Amino acid sequence: MQPILQVKDLQVSFQVRGGEVKAVRGVNFEVGKGEAVAIVGESGSGKSVTAQTIMRLIPSPPSIIKSGEIIFQGNDLTRKTDKEMEAIRGKDIGMIFQDPMTSLNPTIKVGKQITEGLIKHQNLSAKEAKEQGIEMLKLVGIPNAESRFNQYPHEFSGGMRQRVMIAIALACRPSLLIADEPTTALDVTIQAQILNVMKDMQKKFGTSIILITHDLGVVADMCDRVVVMYAGKVVETGTKWEIFQNPQHPYTRGLLRSMPRLDQKKNEKLIPIIGTPPDLIKPPAGCGFCARCDEAMRICEQVDPEVTQLSDTHMSRCWLLHPMAQEVKSS
Ligand code: SF4
Ligand code: MG
Repeated sequence: MQPILQVKDLQVSFQVRGGEVKAVRGVNFEVGKGEAVAIVGESGSGKSVTAQTIMRLIPSPPSIIKSGEIIFQGNDLTRKTDKEMEAIRGKDIGMIFQDPMTSLNPTIKVGKQITEGLIKHQNLSAKEAKEQGIEMLKLVGIPNAESRFNQYPHEFSGGMRQRVMIAIALACRPSLLIADEPTTALDVTIQAQILNVMKDMQKKFGTSIILITHDLGVVADMCDRVVVMYAGKVVETGTKWEIFQNPQHPYTRGLLRSMPRLDQKKNEKLIPIIGTPPDLIKPPAGCGFCARCDEAMRICEQVDPEVTQLSDTHMSRCWLLHPMAQEVKSS
């Protein structure tokens, strides 16, 4: 599959009073054309920082891209000026966040917020932009789109606001949509509706999606591939079936046991992963999951495991997968 986005060895840090938080520590992944990729992991694993770095939404300072490349449609986004990024955001990369109230401007009518991008990026006249804006509101399932066009965000319910956000994000037909916990703030039935809107739009426009989520049910429903992040690193990636049915990293297995899923058996208990992630001001020398891993060996503490390729699409980063694991285990 032709990748539309390649993140290569991305390292992002933050300056804080106590030192430098190494939030993203050498992340690699790709998104194919028309593909939906989930990034999963606990809070603080670096998912949102990765997404916001792709969009270049984190101010620098305090954030610093230490190394790496973000190749989007052949261009390295880490080298773009703020002005060039502004032209890419909204036009080529759309985004949706958890809380539409913080990303919609409460003082501007939703219609204007949709047409702004169309006028700026697509050179449409005000009249054409209005027609397209209303069309977008209809597409995402907003009833009475013509009159809704002239309303303010607070006149919409949470679910309807998220539909408006999707309409804005997709108005210019971006080739990539980044959605950071887009349904977390909504109740379950509304969540399902919003996911359906996203799926429909993906089908209709062939948009590639990066979906950041805590919810493995959402992953199963929406995504082709999964990237599992822990303590600023990708610890496992695979097709969703490889991840759900054949998870190889102890953290991925722990996540699957700890998170609610759609196919959850009635009596199946959720088992939380005990402990907390490491302090990324002083990340551990070895495997980041070591302190919480039941299967940790001595080498895990000292040396960070390399990536093991398990299939064309499946890779994991754990000493248990090393060909010499048995010998390592008994050391
Ligand atoms: Fe556990 Fe060691 Fe694998 Fe890390 S490398 S996940 S500590 S077994
Ligand atoms: Mg987050």
